[in-house]
Amino acid sequence: MNEVPTESETPVNGDLHDLVEVLLLRADQRYTAGRRAMVELLNALGHPASISEIARHLPHIPRSSAYRHLVDLQGAGVVRRIAAKDEFARFELTEVMTEHHHHLLCTTCGRVIDVTPSDEFERTVARAVSELAGARAFRVTSHALDVFGHCSACLESGEASTASATARS
Ligand SMILES: [Zn+2]
Ligand SMILES: [Zn+2]
Repeated sequence: MNEVPTESETPVNGDLHDLVEVLLLRADQRYTAGRRAMVELLNALGHPASISEIARHLPHIPRSSAYRHLVDLQGAGVVRRIAAKDEFARFELTEVMTEHHHHLLCTTCGRVIDVTPSDEFERTVARAVSELAGARAFRVTSHALDVFGHCSACLESGEASTASATARS
């Protein structure tokens, strides 16, 4: 588990906050202290975080408020929600603020693994995507690729086989 740097160690990322503020303004929203705390935490964690992980790091913010902040930030295009299943929802900053990447989602434990694709992989995906969209005269501006399955920990513990068996019933 990554430790979140304390306030004094966290570099003040002016660009990040300026960008978030612009996106929020565009959505007629203000950059409140609560929303700022969410953005700072997600930026410091650097991986998709569950609501319990967020609550653990920001104990002074009630879970319901944290959830509302995330929904607002999502609406403004600041935060993206990723989930293999509803109860496994994870939140991360959108690619406007990070870099293009894909996800491997474990449907057994909910783990989300960020994967940064190689240039060659991206070229292959981009070609396949434009072929797919071009057939419908659709102009592609971006893509998101989430892959569902079972993580190595779940496969090793045998959890994955049990979960697939129940999922099928
Ligand atoms: Zn797993
Ligand atoms: Zn891609």
